[in-house]
Amino acid sequence: ELTKIDSTKNELERRHQFLSKILSVSYKKPLSFTGSAFQYLYTKDGQTVLDAYNNIPHVGHCHPKVVEAGRKQMAKLNTNTRYLYDLLPKYAEKLLSKFPSNLNRVFFVNSGSAASDLAIRLAEKHTGRKNIMVMEHGYHGNTQIGIEVSDYKFSNSKGPGQAAHIFKTPLPDIYLGKYNNPETAGRQYATDAIEEMKSQSEHLGAFIAEPIVGCGGQVPLAPGYLAELYPAFRKQGGVCISDEVQTGFGRIGDHFWGFEAQGVIPDMVILGKPIGNGHPLGAVVCTQEISESFEKGVEFFSSFGGNPVSCAIGLSVLEVIEEEGLQQNAKEVGDHYMKLFRELSEQTDCIGDVRGSGLFIGVEIVKPGTKSPDQELASEIKNRLREENILISTDGPNDNVLKTKPPLCFTKENAEKVVETMAQVLKIDHT
Ligand code: PMP
Repeated sequence: ELTKIDSTKNELERRHQFLSKILSVSYKKPLSFTGSAFQYLYTKDGQTVLDAYNNIPHVGHCHPKVVEAGRKQMAKLNTNTRYLYDLLPKYAEKLLSKFPSNLNRVFFVNSGSAASDLAIRLAEKHTGRKNIMVMEHGYHGNTQIGIEVSDYKFSNSKGPGQAAHIFKTPLPDIYLGKYNNPETAGRQYATDAIEEMKSQSEHLGAFIAEPIVGCGGQVPLAPGYLAELYPAFRKQGGVCISDEVQTGFGRIGDHFWGFEAQGVIPDMVILGKPIGNGHPLGAVVCTQEISESFEKGVEFFSSFGGNPVSCAIGLSVLEVIEEEGLQQNAKEVGDHYMKLFRELSEQTDCIGDVRGSGLFIGVEIVKPGTKSPDQELASEIKNRLREENILISTDGPNDNVLKTKPPLCFTKENAEKVVETMAQVLKIDHT
């Protein structure tokens, strides 16, 4: 018989009876939820929490249209890609309609990790090369290959270290990096990367990067960086992969995909998190040529990837984004949110930088008047906001960047609530 839960501590202990402690839990005082709707979560003890952090429930927690699409399809048919059903090409066509016309093939899997793992295999098959260029502080997944290409994991003090076939390139960061002029930094960083690349003894097969590097602390690649780098990378015979797990599906406001902000078209795109609004779905989108190279190898099969229930859910997510104008909302609310953070940063010297795009924002917390990270203050802000029933997180190599990436139904009032509460925590009169 299970023990009765009478406090959060017991609940956590009970979890550790059966699950590894390697699964981390947010907050000194963990939260226990029993329900959710749109940008709100409900705790066991009756509190309503504003979700300013979770980007997986992209169109809103438990969005009724998405729930209904899954419920209906689950009651009707769920099978796999070894059989024919209309929903697979229907969803594939709808998803691909969001991409430039040369990105016209899709593989469905069940997570962002499975997608990046597959993308690296596709690149290897297509180019015949194993060597991969990765971005400093990048994260792409939890599989063996995923960790090999994720500096965030392999460079961790407890991580496995950098594999011999991995070539890491510096993050083109205009706040902390060596080039700071937004007009020229992108080109300068890319030129350095190209020089370094040329000095490698072997050619590189794949280049994988996020357009805004989440684990780097929400750092947008310097403007113009990919436009300079992609052609050079292709020229030496490699393929370019954009990881849109965090930045895709309209979140950045100005564009549907992060790579569009850099004015480039990748050869492959990795999708996850928001694609299924919480239902386990991931995808690799690529060119016909890359897909055809893969066809020369062994059969690819995923038991759950592209099943009818996943397709129905994925389709409904795309419909909701369109019907509710959520990309536009990300733009309008995101701009307002960013403006409020910038105003706040003018009233305190502990905010060094406010960056991002749409509803994908990072706020760099620093020691007064410097660029030195203040991890302690960032952690205090995060935990104090939690006391005020607001979810936000911290990230970056020094864990001093406040990270906010709420469901796209977030409102201007929600944004005001977060920034006003933050002002109170920082003891700034924000009336
Ligand atoms: N790529 C990026 C950029 C991610 O943020 C993540 C998840 N945090 C992944 C890939 C892996 O996705 P998943 O957790 O669904 O396997």
